[in-house]
Amino acid sequence: MSKFWSEAIRQLTPYVPGEQPKVSNLIKLNTNENPYPPSPKVAQAIHSFDSERLRLYPDPDASLLKQTLADYLSVKPAQVFVGNGSDEVLAHTFMAFFRQPEPLLMPDISYSFYDVYCNLYGIECRHIPLREDFGIALSDYNLANGGIIFANPNAPTGKVLPLDDIEALLKQNTESVVVVDEAYIDFGGQSASTLVDQYANLLVIQTFSKSRSLAGMRIGFAIGNETLIEGLERVKNSFNSYPLDMLAQVTAIEAIKDDTYFKETTQKVIDTRDWTTSQLASMGFKVVPSGTNFVFASHRYIPAAELMGFLRTHNILVRHFSRPIIDNHLRISIGTDEEMQALIDCLKSHPEVTT
Ligand code: PMP
Repeated sequence: MSKFWSEAIRQLTPYVPGEQPKVSNLIKLNTNENPYPPSPKVAQAIHSFDSERLRLYPDPDASLLKQTLADYLSVKPAQVFVGNGSDEVLAHTFMAFFRQPEPLLMPDISYSFYDVYCNLYGIECRHIPLREDFGIALSDYNLANGGIIFANPNAPTGKVLPLDDIEALLKQNTESVVVVDEAYIDFGGQSASTLVDQYANLLVIQTFSKSRSLAGMRIGFAIGNETLIEGLERVKNSFNSYPLDMLAQVTAIEAIKDDTYFKETTQKVIDTRDWTTSQLASMGFKVVPSGTNFVFASHRYIPAAELMGFLRTHNILVRHFSRPIIDNHLRISIGTDEEMQALIDCLKSHPEVTT
């Protein structure tokens, strides 16, 4: 705490990301990264990139990337916004649309960065409890509101909300912006990006960090009606007119173009997730059906915090959230088959785990 901090800064509770260890002998299943490298086309593009170009500023509009994404998702380039990771796209979204007289509605268990942005921008928010099975109770989102945001599939539960339900929600809430954060959509569920031409209040946010294996490049994007995208561009241009560096733009384009590699690696992660789920279930874990690249699991009687510590002593990192309702769950990212086998073997060696 410094005497130079403003009152607003004193009140901030910043987001704490999962550990990025400095040593390499760990099995890292704590931050939902992809266990496979990005497409070989990304590596080629990096190798042949002419560093002389770095003298210049990047394209502030990322036009080629927007065109590539627009073609891929069958929308117009003016319906695409790109930013430095979806975290930044979310920050601009909160700034552009959620500073309203009515509160923002969101599930009580969701991506914890949403609360951080509310705090940062002074946005009042109302948390709507999830159902007991971690489903989103849609009828509770009909209150007068200054916007709605949820992740689909949800994080950290991994639970999918069907597209029909999202459409019903959009029909009930035509006067407020509805943001669907689809960071994990490629691993399960149906994207709402197909609905953006029908619903002027829908904004869909996705990332290159998970299914495209480019977390280190920090690339996220939003798809929506042109006027929503223009709102985001206004905020961006009042903040940093160059949101994506040159190399990020080049590599993102290559990653989108290599659809075969994307489909192959995504399917591998899904298969490994399903295997991990059945292994955990046979060991007395309750596993939430997952549409993501992680599983959310609780053991019948061993506390999650204890299991996380046990795994840590065996050099396996997983995530645990000490928040009510979910504090007995572990969030385990899906790694390679070998990594997941090591996780299962380690859990089997715990004295209280029976198979
Ligand atoms: N949304 C959700 C639901 C997430 O879990 C994450 C990753 N932590 C993000 C957005 C942000 O991803 P990125 O900034 O890497 O695009």
